Amino acid sequence: MTVDYHVHSLGHGDRKHIISELRPFLDKAKTMGLKDIGFADHDRYLDNINFKNYEELSREYSHINIRVGLEFEYFPHLVYEMSRVIQRHNFDYTIGSVHFLGDWNFDHPDHMNQYKKWNVEDFYTKYFQTVLGCIETGLFNIAGHIDLAKVFNYRVEQTKVLKLIEPVLAEIKLQSMAMEINTGGLYKPVNEIYPSMDIIKMAVKRDIPLTISSDAHRFEDVGRNSGMVVEILKELGVKWVAGFNKGHMVEIPLD
Ligand SMILES: [Zn+2]
Ligand SMILES: [Zn+2]
Repeated sequence: MTVDYHVHSLGHGDRKHIISELRPFLDKAKTMGLKDIGFADHDRYLDNINFKNYEELSREYSHINIRVGLEFEYFPHLVYEMSRVIQRHNFDYTIGSVHFLGDWNFDHPDHMNQYKKWNVEDFYTKYFQTVLGCIETGLFNIAGHIDLAKVFNYRVEQTKVLKLIEPVLAEIKLQSMAMEINTGGLYKPVNEIYPSMDIIKMAVKRDIPLTISSDAHRFEDVGRNSGMVVEILKELGVKWVAGFNKGHMVEIPLD
């Protein structure tokens, strides 16, 4: 059994949230043999989500668990606002993600020229400090693509990355969160899953719950490579992945 906890039904905000556009996501989830599909659109499109649609689809697709979450854009100065959004909604789960350092959207190809302004080590340090701040808020259930800094292949020694990630993993554990294995990176310049195998192994060693994510922005990509991730996790002796129901983590056996 597998899951996909990171699906963007609204894509990049270019679609409407209507049943006929959502059904293909569920059909694809069925084809991919998913037990759970988690919709986690970007928080900036929150107002475009019609939550009733998910209820209707849950009745129609009774063999798949539809979970409803949101991918939050972590900004240190907006923690209170984010907590209010979570209080006002009945999410099954939330993802905390860092795509911005200050006002720089560092994972967007249109803003790549700004890498020139950074020493790459300082960039990684700043990125992981920001991720740590995101986790420390205690607002989120899933840590999103935690080594996203590698997206355009700006690299530092992996030992440096592992040193920077150590306190991040400790905090994920402390907050009883899950870490996602996000296969979206396979389709980015880095051409790797997030996070790297070294980090996945560190998380497994620390008994951090893991979940599986495609980061699909189109229905065609739902569940993409989830079978591969299941195989990786089984190799590492992982027996279950994390799912979420009304804010509670549930264990989903991999067999
Ligand atoms: Zn993201
Ligand atoms: Zn995403």
